[in-house]
This record gives sequence, structure tokens and C-alpha cells, in this order.
Amino acid sequence: MASPAAGFIRNSARRVILQTCRVQGKKKCLTSRHIRSLSSLVNLPETHEMLRKTCRDFADNELIPIAAKLDKEHLYPKEQVKKMGELGLMAMDVPESLGGTGLDYLAYAIGMEEISRGCASCGCIMSVNNSLYLGPIMKYGNDTQKEKFVKPFLDGSQVGCFALSEPGNGSDAGAASTMAQLSSDKYTLNGTKAWITNGYESAATVVFATTDKSKKHKGISAFIVPKPIDGLSLGKKEDKLGIKATSTCYLIFEDCDIPEENLLGEPGMGFKIAMQTLDAGRIGIAAQGLGIAQAALDCAVDYALKRNSFGMPIAKMQTVQMKIADMETRLESARLLTWKAAMLKDAGKSFTKEAAMAKLAASETATFNAHSAIQILGGMGYVTDMPAERHYRDARITEIYEGTSDIQRIVIATNIFKEYGA
Ligand SMILES: Cc1cc2nc3c(=O)[nH]c(=O)nc-3n(C[C@H](O)[C@H](O)[C@H](O)COP(=O)(O)OP(=O)(O)OC[C@H]3O[C@@H](n4cnc5c(N)ncnc54)[C@H](O)[C@@H]3O)c2cc1C
Repeated sequence: MASPAAGFIRNSARRVILQTCRVQGKKKCLTSRHIRSLSSLVNLPETHEMLRKTCRDFADNELIPIAAKLDKEHLYPKEQVKKMGELGLMAMDVPESLGGTGLDYLAYAIGMEEISRGCASCGCIMSVNNSLYLGPIMKYGNDTQKEKFVKPFLDGSQVGCFALSEPGNGSDAGAASTMAQLSSDKYTLNGTKAWITNGYESAATVVFATTDKSKKHKGISAFIVPKPIDGLSLGKKEDKLGIKATSTCYLIFEDCDIPEENLLGEPGMGFKIAMQTLDAGRIGIAAQGLGIAQAALDCAVDYALKRNSFGMPIAKMQTVQMKIADMETRLESARLLTWKAAMLKDAGKSFTKEAAMAKLAASETATFNAHSAIQILGGMGYVTDMPAERHYRDARITEIYEGTSDIQRIVIATNIFKEYGA
């Protein structure tokens, strides 16, 4: 990275690595399998390679050994999230001047992939705090809001959440029916937000609510709401197919008063804030998909080399080789799309279409690879003794949240027509 910020970023990455060594108490070398699975087509900057190795070692040592238990017992990974915070992974692109890690979105994508390879739930929690909660406050918050709602959320001791979806509208986010009424110096929130990740553990949430119904989506505003707070109750924890170590629940606002100064940006800017937040967030979900897809491939290759059938390892059979080849090809294509979207964002260029393409490709690859891994493992793919079935369950959410695959295709097509001048 040849920018003036290079030294700054390198120092941050060194700090991350030093912290890792302290946490792990030892240094581990890359194995040949690890080196093989790094992109052989594109050399990452040194800083990002170091970060990747740090996150890879952390996932191998701290997440993979516990991921099945967290999933099975639906345990929120508090200790792991705290360690991720100590490594600087919970606030990756927040500037060092505010106490963040001061890296960029390419670094975030790399970190998200490696953490999600180890535990998709940890990846989900990391993505919500980084891009959905801190992202909009960093972009639209004032100094006082950053002091109060960014600084305590950097080290993994507290996490935030993002409340856009409602029971009656998910893809159609502009149809928000939660209301925020201004009177004297406070807003009063009424309505229900649905599917909110980190709903149980979060200490604050960014919430979208309508302040002027006549203006439709241009009448939506964004607010920062501390939790717990009078007038806000939580629904039951959803019993989900995957990412079971995360909590997902309703946020129910009933005459919930918040100070006027908790408005994020200007009144009526909420829809724009939400869409810009999701553009960036999709890079994180793409990276989560890559991590799950890589974990599924690792599992399939390992098994194919060890499992014998008809007197030879199944890795020698062409039907298995075809599957492995397709898994790797799709994974590497999706990774390049994801890195491209992140690099466009880092360069200050438009990245809406590329982020949607990355999320679409990576999420569908996650499902494809997890499906193929189960097939390669045969019966062992279908039981919880092996991680393949968890990868399959975890993969599906990446095709749904932060915009379903249908919505990504609409975003991509709309941008293509724009590029053609339509
Ligand atoms: C585990 C989990 C965690 C989540 N976390 C959060 C969170 O933290 N914060 C938050 O705000 N939300 C969150 N969500 C909500 C998520 O973003 C929505 O579920 C998602 O956007 C889809 O909305 P929906 O479920 O209402 O589906 P709908 O919008 O009802 O869509 C149903 C189907 O119709 C299709 N469809 C809808 N509109 C169109 C269209 N115009 N063209 C073509 N097809 C269309 C969709 O693709 C989908 O297949 C989470 C959801 C889950 C399951």
C-alpha cells in the first residue's frame, strides 16, 4: 500500500500481531496447506498478509475448537468477542485517534473471512458491530455521539446493533412503520423492529423510524438508542437454522423517549444512511460467506484425502475432484470480487454494484461449497460429528440478511442500466 497512511496502517497491524502473540503466548508458522489456500493470483500488501495470518491463527486456536459447542448450546461467544476486541477486530476502520484499529475495508474483509472460517456466528457479531453499528455513527455522528456511542464499543466489551427490518417489511425497508415523534427536546419511538442481531447483548442500537409519514422513505430518520432504556423491550430469541451463537430478536418500542440529540444526521436522512450502511455491510457479509465456503472446502479436502473407498482415497476419484475444483474456482472468484469491492471503497470510489456482486457471489458460493462438502463426506456430512452440516446451516443466512440474493440482483441490474445511461 503506497499511500501516506501506509506506515500508520502497518503500525496498527503490528500492534494487532503483538497482541495476538500476547493472547496466544506463542508464535505459529503457516502450514503448507495454509499457504496453498492464500490467493495465488493477487499479492496482498504486507500489512494485510500479517493481519490475515493473525486472524487465521486466532481462528485455528480460539474459534474452531469451540464453534460446534457454541452452535449446539446456542451460547453467545462473549469471551471470544472480547478477545477479538483486544485484537482490534471489533472496530477495524475506526481511526486510531478515536481508539479504533485504523485499518481499511480490505483489512476488514480479510479479518471477517478468517474469523467466519473459524466461527460464522463470531463473524456475524463482528460484522454487525463494525459495519452496521459503528459504520453509520462514524459517518454521520457528531463528536459527542462518537464519544458516547463509539468509544465504548471498540474493544469487544460492548457491542451494538442495527434495527432496520420490521415484521411487515424487510426487503422493502422504505416502508418502515416504526414512528418517532418529536416533542420539546425528545423523540418518542413506537413500533417493532424484527430480526435484530445482537438484540440481547447490545448496549446500544441504531434505529430507523419515520418522522414524517407524508414523505415516505424520505421521512425516515436514524437514531442512536442506548440499551436498556425505558419503553424498549425484547422479543423472544429466534430459534434459527444457523449462526446459532448469535441472538436475533424483536426490539419493541412503546413510548420510548430518547433525547433529541440522539438523532443521527439530519431528520429525513435515515433511508440514505441505511442504504449506505448496507452497501458497506455487504462487503462484510461477502467475506463471511468466503469464510464459510473456505471452511467447507478445507473440511471436504481433508476428508477426501483420508477416506478410502474401492481401495483408494476418494480424492483420486474424478467425481470428487470435479466438486473440489468447482468449489475452489467459485471461492477464488468470489474472493476477488469481495476484495475489489473493498478496495473501491478504500479508494473513495463508488462500490454499490461491486458490493452487491460480491455478496451475491460469495453467499451463493458458501451454500454451494457447504452443499458439496456434505456430498463429499457422504453420511459423515450429515451428522454433527463433522462441521460440514454446520457450515451448510450457517451458509444460508448470507443469502438472506443485508438484502436477499434477489435484492442484490436488483441492485446490480439497476446500476448496470445506469452505467448504460438509462
Ligand atoms: C438471522 C437474521 C438476522 C438478521 N439481522 C438483522 C439485523 O441485525 N438488522 C436488521 O435490520 N435486519 C436483520 N435481518 C433481517 C433481514 O435483513 C431480512 O430478513 C431480509 O432483508 C429479508 O427481508 P424479509 O425477511 O422481510 O423478506 P421479504 O422482504 O418478505 O422477502 C421474501 C422473499 O421475497 C423476495 N422479494 C422481496 N422483494 C422482492 C423484489 N422487489 N423483487 C424480487 N424478490 C423480492 C425476497 O428476495 C425473498 O425471497 C436479519 C434476518 C435474519 C434471518
